[in-house]
Amino acid sequence: MNKIKSILSENNINKTKFRVDLLKLFYSKKSLSVFEILDHFNSTVNKVTIYRSLKSFEKKCLIHKVPDSKNFTRYSLCNENECKNGSHDHSHGHFICYACEQTFCLESIKVENTNQLDGFKVENLKLVYEGYCNSCINN
Ligand SMILES: [Zn+2]
Ligand SMILES: [Zn+2]
Ligand SMILES: [Zn+2]
Repeated sequence: MNKIKSILSENNINKTKFRVDLLKLFYSKKSLSVFEILDHFNSTVNKVTIYRSLKSFEKKCLIHKVPDSKNFTRYSLCNENECKNGSHDHSHGHFICYACEQTFCLESIKVENTNQLDGFKVENLKLVYEGYCNSCINN
């Protein structure tokens, strides 16, 4: 809890109760969609508040957008080794589970980080693996 508050302080993010709870939630989940967040807080917060908090977390490099099985907006925590000094650097792949529909960051799978391909300007790069995660295989 103190760790969460100090992360918010360090990044000059208002420590509202909701933001503290939201960041805490990210530390306990692999990834979260806006719907899952709404569900978790039993709709006691509105979508605008959620989107605004996610935007500010994203801007401060606490979380990044990850692929979602249904193309909904979904985020995971950033890795401190990749995202530094206010700029995201995501060069890892992601895994989407068919059963639980959870998205996992694959930190060990490195994607070639280039923004210039011959004749193309790359704006976004996705490497997505799909299948079944360990806990779904074992259930
Ligand atoms: Zn990041
Ligand atoms: Zn799964
Ligand atoms: Zn990721």
